[in-house]
Amino acid sequence: MSGHFIDVILPIPIQKTFTYSVTQSEYEFLKKGMRVAVSFGKTKMYTGLVFKLHKIQPELYDAKDILQILDDRPIVTEHQLNHWEWVSNYYMCGIGEVYRAALPSAFLLESETVIFKNETFKNNETLDDEEFLIYEALQHQSQLTIHQVVDILGKKKVLPIINGLIQKSAVYIKEEIYEQYKPKLIKYVRLHSNYSNKNHLENLLTELSRAKKQRDVILSFFQLESSKKPIKLKELLAFSGSSSAIVKALVDKGILEYYFIQTDRVSYTGERNQLQNLNEFQDKALKEIKDCFKTKDVTLFHGVTSSGKTEVYTKLIQDILDVGKQALFLLPEIALTTQIIVRLQYYFGNQISVFHSKYSMNERVEVWNNVLENKSKAQIILGARSSIFLPFNNLGLIVVDEEHETSYKQFEPSPRYNARDAAIVLSHLHQGKILLGSATPSLESYFNATEKKYGFVELKRRFGEVKLPKIQLVDIKEKQRKREMIGHFSDTLLKQIQDELDQKKQVILFQNRRGFSPVVECKTCGVSPQCPNCDVSLTFHKYKQELKCHYCNYQRAMPNSCGACGSNTLDTKGFGTEQIELELKELFPNHIIGRMDLDTTRGKFGYQKIIGAFQSREIDILVGTQMLSKGLDFDNVSLVGILNADMMLNFPDFRAHERAFQLMVQVSGRAGRSKQQGKVIIQTYNPYHQILQQVSSTDYSAMYKEQIQDRWQYHYPPYYRLIKITLKHKDYQKVDTGISWLSKALQNVFREHVLGPTEPHVSRIRNQYIKNVMIKIPPKQSIVKTKREIFKIKNTFQAVADFRPIRFIIDIDAY
Ligand code: ADP
Ligand code: ZN
Ligand code: ZN
Repeated sequence: MSGHFIDVILPIPIQKTFTYSVTQSEYEFLKKGMRVAVSFGKTKMYTGLVFKLHKIQPELYDAKDILQILDDRPIVTEHQLNHWEWVSNYYMCGIGEVYRAALPSAFLLESETVIFKNETFKNNETLDDEEFLIYEALQHQSQLTIHQVVDILGKKKVLPIINGLIQKSAVYIKEEIYEQYKPKLIKYVRLHSNYSNKNHLENLLTELSRAKKQRDVILSFFQLESSKKPIKLKELLAFSGSSSAIVKALVDKGILEYYFIQTDRVSYTGERNQLQNLNEFQDKALKEIKDCFKTKDVTLFHGVTSSGKTEVYTKLIQDILDVGKQALFLLPEIALTTQIIVRLQYYFGNQISVFHSKYSMNERVEVWNNVLENKSKAQIILGARSSIFLPFNNLGLIVVDEEHETSYKQFEPSPRYNARDAAIVLSHLHQGKILLGSATPSLESYFNATEKKYGFVELKRRFGEVKLPKIQLVDIKEKQRKREMIGHFSDTLLKQIQDELDQKKQVILFQNRRGFSPVVECKTCGVSPQCPNCDVSLTFHKYKQELKCHYCNYQRAMPNSCGACGSNTLDTKGFGTEQIELELKELFPNHIIGRMDLDTTRGKFGYQKIIGAFQSREIDILVGTQMLSKGLDFDNVSLVGILNADMMLNFPDFRAHERAFQLMVQVSGRAGRSKQQGKVIIQTYNPYHQILQQVSSTDYSAMYKEQIQDRWQYHYPPYYRLIKITLKHKDYQKVDTGISWLSKALQNVFREHVLGPTEPHVSRIRNQYIKNVMIKIPPKQSIVKTKREIFKIKNTFQAVADFRPIRFIIDIDAY
């Protein structure tokens, strides 16, 4: 008997696709990339994706019928399926895991999904009978699972009904929390259109010859206007030194007018503007990039901080739009989208959509559909790493900004992909081009450039001929000896902060740790309060008088006395952003201090609030963690202080030095971005450390030469590849036996290229014990074969009953 079958991707971590049986007419209707509802196991129901249509009956099991077809045309493209297959092969995970990561959760309703009533929904009359039944049930019960919906309706085919309810906004599904926040509007000024003509201008200035203050404002306005950027009211006031009353008088006269730009997204109502004219160096870089693209698909663009890389990107994007293709602009951090979106919308208006994890499910579905349908809104996608999974039709260009950032790598859950590397493959599938941009390229990319695998273009000057910041190292050991420290600040840093504030400049201070202090210790018995779930001490958060675990979010009130010996001698050690903020408030009581770290940026608009406030100069000093280091562009920051460089340098990891260099150069790069040269002060116990010397002269190539030498000598990337295997379980003994077995098995095959087993820095998280083993792959060894061997060993491992409950995590190109 011959039947009709489809292979379906299920959104669960199994290695293979699953075969279901379909009728002939379903077979004729279905296409690759359409969704079908299927049952799996005894009770589960999933949204599966058609991967293959065929007539071969599975040998090992009876193919079940599908429950229902959910789409009338594919919502996933052929390119995507190919890309997912690559991700799944390369990163050794199930294609179902890629599928789950790629699709907005609204596309993936399943038996486990929980739906809630939308309290603000009013239009009952728009619901059909079945929808109404469900809506009614939610009046009596706060939530329903899909299983319960099946029971209520007495039928299995319920997903379209739930989809209907979601579309009508009558219900929503879990994950989602709607946030009430009005995005900040920034006030800008422009010349009234009556004065666009040159002659009118001259008249205007004569007209104002007696209103000297107003005339000064207009002259300042023209000076600012020469930068061809939108002019903020605050900026005009600061620059002209005049009051808002004077500007208002000009507005009342109909000479100037106010307008607003929302520092947010999607609907942009402003005008579109011409792209900037590039300066000669940018222009040369642009030509070189285009030249590289003639022969190479990937090009590395090494441009110092504030050299104007973004403006170069805009030209390339424009070229791609002109030939009718889509462009993807990847950013490592959601925090950055706030600024870049404003800059890109200024040129490209409504041709841009944003996509990232803080968007609500509906917004993500909307962007997905717009990209799929190649709508004009979705010609440029600005997004964080997951946007590489969108349904592009014709992707001509990918820009990977800040390509060195480790946040491009996903750690948890699987797929543990690096979005930069997966983007290179994506671009290849579309036969497009990809530009990797950074002021501090990763050693990997720079190496590929020197090996001529990638094209390479440099831009060594800051835009406007502003010099790179002047970096001063301050020896805190000596400062302590001479008693020239107040709290965590050297007198040098304090004096400089005061000078900048006096000149109405802003200051950024960097401390790569949040909270008040990372360790609380009893002075009598030496015991530190530990997290009950993790092998790590709790961090003290003073503001809330709490002890928190940064690994599992456990929290409890700060105790008055030591839990071990009962003495009242709990003391804090080390310091985080919160402590710095408090010290600053005492040192500079007349200034506004802001803080940007994980604790202050929760919620969808968390970043925007802080970045917006800093940008509009409502904050004088901004203290923050590494979030601050990523490509932000503030024009009034003249000083950056790094409070303690040593922690970064002493991190036990082969990339620590590279990372420390990148972080410090990037943070420094936030200083002096317009007009005047900025200043950077780095406090350290170790001013002669070679990395600090390289940072202070911004000598990337010295850093590269030294580090690449080490990588070669100690067999690390980019010469060797790394695969990390992690075992996790709540029983220590199990993990320990498991990892010894595994290491031996791996050593049998890979010999001296197996490192470990080792315990990570924090060896228990959320009550799970963790052990690692690392496999190094020498340059000439086949990666495909290596992975095949690892798979075999994994299968044998999991065949041992005792080991089966252990989580087995494979991380390719691990960080
Ligand atoms: P990068 O991305 O290299 O750090 P940016 O693109 O942010 O640098 O440029 C730094 C600053 O210089 C920005 O404020 C930007 O608007 C300005 N700028 C860069 N190029 C131009 C140009 N060609 N014309 C006008 N302003 C420019
Ligand atoms: Zn004690
Ligand atoms: Zn914990």
